[in-house]
Amino acid sequence: MTPDAPPDTPYARLSGLARTLAATRRRLEKRALLAAFLCSLRKDEVAPAVHLIVGRIFAEADGRTLKVGWATLKRALSDVRQTTLGAEPLTVLEVARAFAQIAATEGPESVKVRRRILDSLLGRGTADEREILLRTIFGEMRIGVNEGVMLDGIADAAQVDPEAVRTAQMFLGDLGTVAEVALFEGAEGLARHRIRLLAPVKPMLAELAKTPEEILEEHGGVTAVEVKFDGARIQIHRDGDRVRIFSRRLSDVTAGLPEVVEFARALPTPRFILEGEAVAVDAEGRPLPFQDLMRRFRRVHGIEAAREAIPLRLYLFDLLYLGDASLVDAPYEQRWTLLEGLVPREVLATRRIAHTKGEIESGLAEALAAGHEGIMAKALASPYTVGTRRKRWFKLKPADLLDVAIVAAEWGSGRREGWLSNYWLAVRDAKTGGFQMIGKTFKGLTDAEFASMTERLRSLAVSEERWGFHVRPEVVVEVAYNEIQRSPHYPSGFALRFARIVRIRDDKGPSDVDSYARLKDLYARQFERKGRGPGVRR
Ligand code: AMP
Repeated sequence: MTPDAPPDTPYARLSGLARTLAATRRRLEKRALLAAFLCSLRKDEVAPAVHLIVGRIFAEADGRTLKVGWATLKRALSDVRQTTLGAEPLTVLEVARAFAQIAATEGPESVKVRRRILDSLLGRGTADEREILLRTIFGEMRIGVNEGVMLDGIADAAQVDPEAVRTAQMFLGDLGTVAEVALFEGAEGLARHRIRLLAPVKPMLAELAKTPEEILEEHGGVTAVEVKFDGARIQIHRDGDRVRIFSRRLSDVTAGLPEVVEFARALPTPRFILEGEAVAVDAEGRPLPFQDLMRRFRRVHGIEAAREAIPLRLYLFDLLYLGDASLVDAPYEQRWTLLEGLVPREVLATRRIAHTKGEIESGLAEALAAGHEGIMAKALASPYTVGTRRKRWFKLKPADLLDVAIVAAEWGSGRREGWLSNYWLAVRDAKTGGFQMIGKTFKGLTDAEFASMTERLRSLAVSEERWGFHVRPEVVVEVAYNEIQRSPHYPSGFALRFARIVRIRDDKGPSDVDSYARLKDLYARQFERKGRGPGVRR
């Protein structure tokens, strides 16, 4: 550091900001608070601070985790007072470095080493700082700052157009880097970050349609109905001989999917970015459970054997780059036409253009009859956008499925003895950034899945109870249910009736969990279909 460089930012400022943000309801005020804080940071502090504020330890696509179990944390917490005396105040960078060190620790001594770093971190923090540190470690920041609010705060801090910040986020896929570029390189810097071959792009998301009418209204009377395939989303990048494949969460999954690499290399054009869904199938072409597909994504060894045991089918639905041109600003219709010209028909998503409610409904019925999840409806003129979901893409599926996070797990009894097997399910409360519990289930998993889930949830534990553990809300499961009921048992006010896990969604993270707002909306709409009994409150 040069002698006149600004001093390190104390962590106390970040933890103080987190508390103020938690007490601030209005989005505009949150934006202003964030902007003022970001403006005060040194360049090397910006990215770590942004991650810590949104409650992440590392960037979204960064695969590192802390691997700090509840037992370690509990011991560190109980010893905390003895280490506090005479310590230097913590800085933002020191906190970020300590987390990186904990994540990087490996080998036989790793538990001890992690514990030592954690002790010193917690010991040096004041009680207030420690509370925010723990919230970060537990993945429960609860200060109402999601990606959208942070992007607006970054735009205000850098005094640039929020749209430019959103676009840069789509191509950089990391809020920390976006903030650093916006603040220190301005609008010009942001504009330099365009789509690039071999660098992952944040995927465009769809909003859940309430009715076919809503789709037609939003899309101007015509929409493209595609089958919603039940697999995992992938982006396939090729630049000459180099091919890279990225998952929905932007991690590199190239090594596990050799046949997709071969497929990409065999196409007659050398430079493109394709997007689609990979589905695992058996020898007869019937869809295999989602867990098998995830095994393909994770596999590092025995790829050839896995390839035979779990073949993949590919369904492509978008083209984001072709030759030397980005297509993200081109209308969907044009991207589709180019896609049709590039790839063989059998790997194209099944699709039709619909002008009426009846056409959308029969598209849905056919998709469901063929065993798919539902349909996607895409506006013909829409560019490829990320960030805010703007009703340019809709999904329409039967209403009785939700993606929820597991927030606690209870030990089972009888056949499930020794396994963490009764799971507390929760939706995401966008207002607070926290989770709202809506039920429990022990249904839907195989014995092998219970066993591996037990191990996984133990490693995510944040407190131990007589009955099991509260856990960091990182495991996402898709649950089917029969009905949403009013319930006095949970602060959310709702409970799922007959909830059962249909899939462990390893491709999704906590930010993909369905929202509390959606749950309330589904509850209200249940009565449109079923009618409301007398005396039932909304
Ligand atoms: P959901 O996971 O329910 O939010 O639905 C969106 C996901 O559906 C996307 O991220 C894709 O993985 C998947 N999907 C399946 N078929 C399609 C399709 N034809 N177009 C876009 N996404 C699709």
